[in-house]
Amino acid sequence: MKEDLLKLLKDLKKTVSLYKEINLLPPVSKKAEKFLKGETELEKAYLNSIDNLDELKRYINGCTRCKLHKNRRNIVFGEGNPNAELVFVGEAPGREEDIEGRPFVGEAGRLLTRIIKAMGLERMDVYICNVVKCRPPRNRDPEADEIKACFPFLEAQLRIISPKVICTLGRIAAQTLLGKDFKITKQRGNWYSYKDIPVMPTFHPAYLLRNPSEKRVVWEDMKKIMEKLGLNPGMKKDAS
Ligand code: URA
Repeated sequence: MKEDLLKLLKDLKKTVSLYKEINLLPPVSKKAEKFLKGETELEKAYLNSIDNLDELKRYINGCTRCKLHKNRRNIVFGEGNPNAELVFVGEAPGREEDIEGRPFVGEAGRLLTRIIKAMGLERMDVYICNVVKCRPPRNRDPEADEIKACFPFLEAQLRIISPKVICTLGRIAAQTLLGKDFKITKQRGNWYSYKDIPVMPTFHPAYLLRNPSEKRVVWEDMKKIMEKLGLNPGMKKDAS
């Protein structure tokens, strides 16, 4: 019975996503609107029942849960290996990410790609996503209500991927997963945990572009991740 209900909800949600894609909203009641905004227990149960990234991506399609939807060009869902042992969590898409609909493809992204390669990995080996999936205007920090609205999607991504390690990039991602009192400068480089998954918080690559001397400490953090994942630290390449 519960399974049938969930299946029905999934079908309905798919139909609504299709409507949204062509900028048409079917007439919905206030109750249904709450459901679509993820404000009901039923909706939470539905989100919890999604067990693969493709379905989650379809589910997020056309999201209007927060004000960031108004100015976005694309939702930046995340990309990479759905079975990744390592997930990088950034803050929010920037200009280039918004245009391409892909995470970390701008200058900071190119540095992240070099860091990943220096670990002896490729982007497609890991999974890369953000705390919020839509670009904040003028690249401002995402606001608390936006993070709150989008967090269930990150939660679902991490539940589905179930990585061995999460690496948070910058203050916002660390505070989102580890608590708002987290101090990135003082506390990065140590192991924490999110729902029993080890978390290594490090500096954001955009910060490294402004402060290149800090690349050294980020590499120390990456070495800890490599050790945990059994990656060969001898494979270090130049990430500068
Ligand atoms: N900065 C982020 O935090 N995420 C991106 O996807 C790009 C830049």
